[in-house]
Amino acid sequence: MESKIIQGKSIREWKKQYPLMNKIISTEEVFWTNSKYGKFEDAIKKVSLTEEDVKDAEERLKRFAPYIAKVFPETQKTNGIIESPVVKIPNMQRKIEEMFNKEVLGELLLKCDSHLAISGSIKARGGIYEVLKHAEDLAIENNMLTIEEDYSILDSDKFRKFFSKNSIAVGSTGNLGLSIGIMSAQLGFKVYVHMSADAKQWKKDLLRSKGVTVVEYASDYSKAVEEGRKQAEADPNMYFVDDENSTNLFLGYAVAAYRLKKQLEEINVVVDEEHPLFVYLPCGVGGGPGGVAFGLKLVFKDNVHCFFAEPTHSPCMLIGLMTDMHDKVCVQDFGIDNITAADGLAVGRASGFVGKTLKNLISGAYTAKDEKLYVLLSTLIDSENIYLEPSALAGIPGCIELFKDEAGKKYIENNNLKDKMKNASHIAWATGGSMVPKDVMETYYKKGKELSSHKI
Ligand SMILES: *Cc1c(COP(=O)(O)O)cnc(C)c1O
Repeated sequence: MESKIIQGKSIREWKKQYPLMNKIISTEEVFWTNSKYGKFEDAIKKVSLTEEDVKDAEERLKRFAPYIAKVFPETQKTNGIIESPVVKIPNMQRKIEEMFNKEVLGELLLKCDSHLAISGSIKARGGIYEVLKHAEDLAIENNMLTIEEDYSILDSDKFRKFFSKNSIAVGSTGNLGLSIGIMSAQLGFKVYVHMSADAKQWKKDLLRSKGVTVVEYASDYSKAVEEGRKQAEADPNMYFVDDENSTNLFLGYAVAAYRLKKQLEEINVVVDEEHPLFVYLPCGVGGGPGGVAFGLKLVFKDNVHCFFAEPTHSPCMLIGLMTDMHDKVCVQDFGIDNITAADGLAVGRASGFVGKTLKNLISGAYTAKDEKLYVLLSTLIDSENIYLEPSALAGIPGCIELFKDEAGKKYIENNNLKDKMKNASHIAWATGGSMVPKDVMETYYKKGKELSSHKI
């Protein structure tokens, strides 16, 4: 294994160049800070996407709001805008401080994308946005719609019949399939969701109940995506939602940042030079957390510090960023198995587009063990009565590691944050959970309680 050659170097050489690789390969938890992290004003110049692109996505979501409110009545209270609450979780903060024997300076908050309407995960941002954009493009091209119209007219037989001549395909570990499937089926599209082996049975059942064609694979996410892509290439009326490369998905996620700014103002959470914001984002292929991080950097610039969180068995973004190899390498190359209970994060090869876009904007990345995710899952239920799926807990330990790990301490020092940490806010981005069936959640909870009695 040590002599296996990956991108021109043996594993031994990779380890020598990046000492952290030793721990990563033995699936130990690590906290990595990005030496290429730069000042916002410099870093943003190297990115082709702009604030205007995000604003354009925000406007599009506003145009669709009357339609969304009509077909998904649960969104009526937010007038058809799909948004989640951000809440302070002081009890959980105290619990984890005790559990890991480390004080977290500042205040811990939770961004509850777990409770986003329609599909109960962060995918209700990018995934739904991309389907809406595609529907709008088709309708406008065919002179059936103008952007001045009330989009609730899309809820009609005329439009459903029109969309039914078109189909949409996507590859997913589960949640992206849910959001694309539910939204596309509602509009009238034919939908094919290619599911990896990680995908939970209840997600497949739910999709089938909505008339979605679910194709199952015995292998991982990359295979499901590849098959979806192939299927769409063979059919001119089929649109492929490309989780690995889509700027539309990315922009749909980025809109979250502008809305978060308003939400924080409403609860008197200040973000400025004296009040830094730290955000910890569970990361799979990278589109969701990458898009959100991109938006956050546009909004808060150098006052926000974003970290990706991955399972110890699927650290694809971390390896891609650290080695600058992005999608040229996968975790399996290094003998890491990509098997994790965090199904939303079970991705072996990160998006090259996202890694390169965030290269100088992301502060770092860390990994967490599955056992820890379960323990945090039951602890969050006991302390705050909030129910998340395992993937979504990955954002929680970031604030501990920042203060505990030597690399985290150095990051605070190097960025002149030491005196400001008592004023800091830490947001763990809770990426999914509200749609998990009760009995499944019960087994997660029990597992967490059981593991809590051991050392984690
Ligand atoms: C998809 C997903 C993520 C990560 O999003 P990516 O775009 O794959 O990086 C995180 N948590 C949950 C619950 C997800 O479903």
